[in-house]
Amino acid sequence: MPYEPVIGLEIHAQLLTETKIFCGCRTAFGAAPNTQVCPTCLGLPGAMPVLNRQAVEFAARAALALNCTVHEASVFARKNYFYPDLPKGYQISQYDQPLATGGWMTLPRAGGAMRIGVTRVHLEEDAGKSLHHGFPDSDRATYLDFNRSGVPLVEIVTEPDVRSAADAAACFSRVREMLVALGVNDGNMEEGSLRCDANISVRPVGADAFGVKTEVKNVNSFRFVQKAIEFEVDRQIATLSAGGAILQETRLWNSDTGETESMRTKEAAHDYRYFPEPDLPPLVVPAAWLSAIRASMAELPDARRARLAAEYGLTEYDAAIIGRSSLAAVYFEAMVRAGASAKAAANWLQGEVRRKLKDIGRDEDMSAVPFSEDALAELAVATERGVVSSTAAKMVFEQMWTTGRSARAIIDAEGLAQIGDASALEALVADVLANHPGAMAEFRAGRKNAFGFLVGQVMKASQGKANPNVINDLLLKALSARER
Ligand code: ADP
Ligand code: ZN
Ligand code: MG
Repeated sequence: MPYEPVIGLEIHAQLLTETKIFCGCRTAFGAAPNTQVCPTCLGLPGAMPVLNRQAVEFAARAALALNCTVHEASVFARKNYFYPDLPKGYQISQYDQPLATGGWMTLPRAGGAMRIGVTRVHLEEDAGKSLHHGFPDSDRATYLDFNRSGVPLVEIVTEPDVRSAADAAACFSRVREMLVALGVNDGNMEEGSLRCDANISVRPVGADAFGVKTEVKNVNSFRFVQKAIEFEVDRQIATLSAGGAILQETRLWNSDTGETESMRTKEAAHDYRYFPEPDLPPLVVPAAWLSAIRASMAELPDARRARLAAEYGLTEYDAAIIGRSSLAAVYFEAMVRAGASAKAAANWLQGEVRRKLKDIGRDEDMSAVPFSEDALAELAVATERGVVSSTAAKMVFEQMWTTGRSARAIIDAEGLAQIGDASALEALVADVLANHPGAMAEFRAGRKNAFGFLVGQVMKASQGKANPNVINDLLLKALSARER
């Protein structure tokens, strides 16, 4: 029986605030252990939480970008469980009254975008970190670092609308792109700033009811999300096909073995005994504040791609690549303002600029381009007008990158300008024809190669500087004149 996967994601993103969600401690990653702590985030008795306004603003941006309804009132709750890196014995999170609900996002599809529902977006605090390795007595002891305790997180939960491992990875990737564009998350998955839990079940194709799901926790790369889901889908299908049943459980992805492993079954799962946090009043986001937040939001990548395609007539492919980062889009638009055609600007950015950034290990990082939009536009225009050949233009580009000199200066100094002036080339064409009567005869006999040969000879005589279009014209004219 053929099965179909059903997938829902829970994405945790660390908000880029300078201070923690309920205290004034710093959030910077990599500080010496337990140097960014205070009574509140250590959970000492009597310490009171005070909500960070910027964390709310950042979470609201994410919620708005995901087309959610942001509620005027939401409630923080205590999620009670025991864990050494959770000194209070509970995590403050939003539960039955979250900040935002009822949103959606899209995945691009040939026949029209596919819609993935966003169930909720809520605020919560992160826990500390348990260090199980790297100390002389790590075989006996676990060390605790509370710097991360109380760092603000936004949790984004999707509906079980995703139907393949690749789409799940794409969803995660689009959420990352969106959060980074909004300036609310740094997108750094290696440092754990962005983590994804995948909920996975399978059902017979055509069935309405969902199957029993498993949850794979804390996967921190797009590739691993895809691989973990692929493994889990195969495992579930194999189990069901063999007459077995899926156990509702939490599993961990092991990137060494490429498998998921059982962590705890639902039977053993905690009852979190949620109740409203008595030390915090309900969170109120008045309509006026929400509209101010909406107005302050950066253009989102999706909207930018659509606008670039419409405004500049870019192909979907060009718009997708340039619209991926706001810097590339700004650079592109400035090049067009400086006189380059949209197509030429797009070609330069996707061709030489991308290649060069990759070479120097600054993939896609437009801030590493050492010259201005105007400078590259000058080269693009010179190429479009035929002042330099496309081969010479690439050399000019290289030199601009290393020397910072302008395209004009390099073209002049190196004598790279093409000879596009017909009168300057006519004599060369006449010479070549006089010296190659054989090729002329072949051309008249209908051999196309002979023409290419003659073009090559004129180019050689011009020391590579002739504009090939002009040579073509002159040669054709001369050959047809002699035929008569
Ligand atoms: P739980 O009560 O186990 O936390 P939720 O209903 O809150 O489950 O859903 C958590 C996540 O699991 C959501 O992303 C949701 O879309 C997804 N999900 C729910 N049911 C299924 C299912 N049968 N198969 C796959 N994903 C599911
Ligand atoms: Zn603190
Ligand atoms: Mg849940």
